[in-house]
Amino acid sequence: MTMTAGVLSLVAFFALGCDSNSADDGADARDEQPDQADVFDSADVVGPEARADDAVRDGEDVVPGDVPGDAPDGEVCEPTAANILGPYYIAGAPERWDLVEPGMAGTRLTISGRVLGPDCAPVPDAVVDVWQADADGVYDNAGWLLRGWSRADADGVWKVHTIVPGRYATGGTFRPAHIHVRVGASGYVLLTTQLYFAGDPYNESDPYYVPSLALVPGALPDGSLTASFDFVLVAE
Ligand code: FE
Repeated sequence: MTMTAGVLSLVAFFALGCDSNSADDGADARDEQPDQADVFDSADVVGPEARADDAVRDGEDVVPGDVPGDAPDGEVCEPTAANILGPYYIAGAPERWDLVEPGMAGTRLTISGRVLGPDCAPVPDAVVDVWQADADGVYDNAGWLLRGWSRADADGVWKVHTIVPGRYATGGTFRPAHIHVRVGASGYVLLTTQLYFAGDPYNESDPYYVPSLALVPGALPDGSLTASFDFVLVAE
């Protein structure tokens, strides 16, 4: 299937799925936002002393077609746009890149790419922390469903295996499907952002949507989706 067909499939998926989401962004939202400094507390990875430990890199065999390497001299990469933390972040998620559990509803989605510095050079061992709603637009605020963090490998390659999140109601409308991400690495400003989906009809009316954060997934023969996204961090 071509990329265009994949996008069209995704658009159709969104058009069919929007009525099934029912989570409320209001009263049950967490009141206490974690302080920026608390991010990755459980992972304890932001400091350089924590970086020299036992990185588990389940993702080293992924990202077909991506050839990690040093950036060409003089190249400049545009920093990834920051986005809201949102009310559902919880520090302390388990370390794992595969968030899909047996029987979990939702279209399977693998996102992969690299974590880069402003000079386009890979950022080894960057921590990528992901959290999102389930296929019905509901966050697990009691456990760790669809929450997890993993490290980019020595070439800055990261990935997550998850599902396409459902939309959830807020203020009489729906937030477009989105995946929350925090990316941290020693020597770089912590990036808090969200990944969106090209073609979601709620993108344009969403106050937080940024086109540069939109994934453009392609569909695989088994019905799952793949997308790539490179994070570009700002040096401290
Ligand atoms: Fe959200």
